[in-house]
Amino acid sequence: MATHKIAIQGVAGAFHDIAARRYFGTGGNTVEIIECETFADVCDAVMKNEATEGMMAIENTIAGSILPNYALLQAYNLSVIGETYVRIQHNLLALPGQKIQDIHTVQAHPMALLQCRDFFLMYPHIRVEEAFDTAGIARKIRQENIKGVAAIAGYLAAELYELETLAEGLESNKQNFTRFLAISRVANHLSREFDKTSLGFRVSHTSGSLSDALANFKRNRINLTKIQSIPVIGVPYEYTIHVDMTWEDVTDFEQAIKEFRPDALELRIFGIYKEGEKNIDLTTKHHITVGEDNAEEVIDAKKAEPKVMMEKVQPWQKWIQPAPTTKQEYLMIAGPCSAETEEQVLETARRIKATGKASVYRAGVWKPRTRAGGFEGHGIKALPWLQRAKEETGLLMGVEVATAQHVEDCLKYGIDVLWVGARTTGNPFSVQEIADAVRGTGVGMMVKNPISPDLELWIGALERLYLAGISNLVAIHRGFSTGEKTAYRNSPNWSLPMQFRSRLPHIPLINDPSHITGKRALLSEVAQKALDLGMDGFIIESHIDPDAAWTDAAQQLTPEDLRDMLDNLTWQPARHNHDDVQKLDTLRSSIDRLDAEFVDLLAARMNLVREIGEYKRHNNIEINQPARWQDVMQKRLAQGGKLKLPDSFIQDIFNRIHTESVDTQAK
Ligand code: PEP
Ligand code: MN
Repeated sequence: MATHKIAIQGVAGAFHDIAARRYFGTGGNTVEIIECETFADVCDAVMKNEATEGMMAIENTIAGSILPNYALLQAYNLSVIGETYVRIQHNLLALPGQKIQDIHTVQAHPMALLQCRDFFLMYPHIRVEEAFDTAGIARKIRQENIKGVAAIAGYLAAELYELETLAEGLESNKQNFTRFLAISRVANHLSREFDKTSLGFRVSHTSGSLSDALANFKRNRINLTKIQSIPVIGVPYEYTIHVDMTWEDVTDFEQAIKEFRPDALELRIFGIYKEGEKNIDLTTKHHITVGEDNAEEVIDAKKAEPKVMMEKVQPWQKWIQPAPTTKQEYLMIAGPCSAETEEQVLETARRIKATGKASVYRAGVWKPRTRAGGFEGHGIKALPWLQRAKEETGLLMGVEVATAQHVEDCLKYGIDVLWVGARTTGNPFSVQEIADAVRGTGVGMMVKNPISPDLELWIGALERLYLAGISNLVAIHRGFSTGEKTAYRNSPNWSLPMQFRSRLPHIPLINDPSHITGKRALLSEVAQKALDLGMDGFIIESHIDPDAAWTDAAQQLTPEDLRDMLDNLTWQPARHNHDDVQKLDTLRSSIDRLDAEFVDLLAARMNLVREIGEYKRHNNIEINQPARWQDVMQKRLAQGGKLKLPDSFIQDIFNRIHTESVDTQAK
């Protein structure tokens, strides 16, 4: 049992610390972290024997290669003795006892903030601030007892600094892994124990020299896992080729190097080591106990049985159906209000499939009925019918769920998309129960607006699902119960879905004209309005024999009538994709904020002008003071010039301000 003193860039609790513990902290060994400000300091600490080894990030699956660290490998006479891969899972950490609503500011490294951008769009009240060191913020929050501020860091920072994890996995792209190299003064000796190397070389500028070099490795059954060219500092347009390679038989590697050496300029083997384990399951809960036996890290990825198999996870894009007449993509869902009989489920699915208008099939299995005694759905008995419909038509299946049991039953039968119905969205207990049941399953979730016109309840339901790690989210606008008598069954209150869109611009929003209108004759006017407002698709009830439907008969229409209705709508020409909409919305709201500030400033200026006016009147001073005005203008022109604003623009605005000021004082 040994103590490893590991130099890392950053502070204890950072992802480098996780990597150091994972790599060196096994077999009863203990790890002590030596915090360094820069990666060069890490190399220095190892060189000077202040650390036994170092741990250094070399590439990330999103950000790519960390080129400066390649340069350090070349500059220092250190060896790579191993590697480890760590999933970068960003969590939101704050002092215990606070809720996400109490957090006004989050501070983190710009890269972490970028990766978690979607998350913070859900929380416009949280100010996002760039900071240098992510785990360092976590430590500062603890040391200085800072309330209202959160850090974005990994699980280890939460444990070390005793912070509470308010949300896990904030990053939009969960395939976020960093590869770390373990570096040491002492190199490993070539042996059967090792199956990987990192080396760098240059070849002459002659035709085919690089491909000859690589062909040599191929001939010797060496697998190149990564190739990266690094500029040679001080020699423009000269590169070192840095290659990682693995082998099955170490003698192959020896042979390859023997053959390669005569052709290579400056071949340097950075180290020979054992390839790190890459297949870390995304559902892994990495558990580290910090304290007496901080070497005991339990990775229970293999043991933890995910609730559904990965192949059931549907990539989001598969839900999408191109619109009939434009390139714009819409999410189209159709199917009967209720699954009534096996034959009705199958036949409706076949005919909807034949229209080519939908990619997801809906059917109610558990029906929320206002009064007891009606048809409340067949429950689990109907799920095999949907499974068959899916097999036969290839449509994805969608079902409304209201309890954890419903979720589990649906997952058993391979249902792809679940939705929270209008009556359930308004009940946070139920929504939380559903969120907990779908956590980690990768299933898609849709949330209908609540019965009451309450935007916060609707957003809150999506938020619970999001916080449970579900990122395939869709919102459904199905209208509201307002107590007013209208031609519609549920009032559309269009401004609510529009507010929803500006609050959560990145979540697709689709329209349910069936439950808004309650009557098939009114479907198309509502659907058209939804398209005009830029909604992302529809969920519409369709039945092979609408008048005989067991539930919601008046609002359903046959698959063929549905097709005709959709064909007669005016579809928007290709709209911006979500990122663009989101960006535009963000830019516009920034402009709105500045404009508001601008008007506030004008008002504040006019108040001062009035005060000066009073003073001049009291002291019999002339209102118009050309010298003073010239001075004002000169100062602003100089400032404007520095900020690249045209003189004429500044002159126009300030002349206008000046006349208004003189008029005001004259009054
Ligand atoms: C339904 O979709 O059949 C349904 C019950 O809808 P809502 O939750 O909108 O009333
Ligand atoms: Mn219905």
